[in-house]
Amino acid sequence: MDLTNLLKYQEVDAKLFDVESKLTASPARKKMSELSKVAKTAQVKSNELEAEANKVLAEIDDVKVKFEENKKSLQSLLNKDLEKLSAEDLDKISVLKGKILNNLNYLEKALQKHAEQINHILMEYNKTKKMYDGARVQFIECKKKVEEETKILEPEKERLKKELETLSKSVEKNLMAEYQKRRNDHIFPVVVPLEGTNFCGRCRMELPMVAISRIKDVGVITCEHCKRLVYKK
Ligand SMILES: [Zn+2]
Repeated sequence: MDLTNLLKYQEVDAKLFDVESKLTASPARKKMSELSKVAKTAQVKSNELEAEANKVLAEIDDVKVKFEENKKSLQSLLNKDLEKLSAEDLDKISVLKGKILNNLNYLEKALQKHAEQINHILMEYNKTKKMYDGARVQFIECKKKVEEETKILEPEKERLKKELETLSKSVEKNLMAEYQKRRNDHIFPVVVPLEGTNFCGRCRMELPMVAISRIKDVGVITCEHCKRLVYKK
């Protein structure tokens, strides 16, 4: 079987493969996807921080209510006419006053702790926002670069595709189909020469002699290891 046309096809296809690789593996494109991950992470983080802040703010409201209640109780104790009370009642009041003061002390500390928490959340939020904004600016820059690269490479890609379409007509149909199947699986080069007497020219795995014996009749055999089409020069 004559493989000249298929090999000619592959030669042009190598240029297309190269252009496609440049488009998909461009550093700007890679950076773009990294930055989009950073932005997403920042967004998730700021949502979490917002929820956390809401929780702390609700706790602060709760503490403030309790604080006011205790303050009122203390005020009403202080307003009592102590002279009219028995010694036993005075003891009770004194104990109660102690409890209320303890409560107020505890609640004040709780408020302080919550205020610190809010400060910490705000700091984290600002940090996250900076991260997000930074990623966004860089993302726009990368996108512009990718668009410029695409503008240059896309016409070349189309030109090569057209050339390949013409060339494909001169290749035997089944062989072309086998080639395309592998090409679509990102196997490239698809067709490789036999190395030595029985090795795949790409992955260097040994090919079975039964297959080798058929190579002249069928033109190409498949390497079971790397799935490439192997031919004899
Ligand atoms: Zn192989």
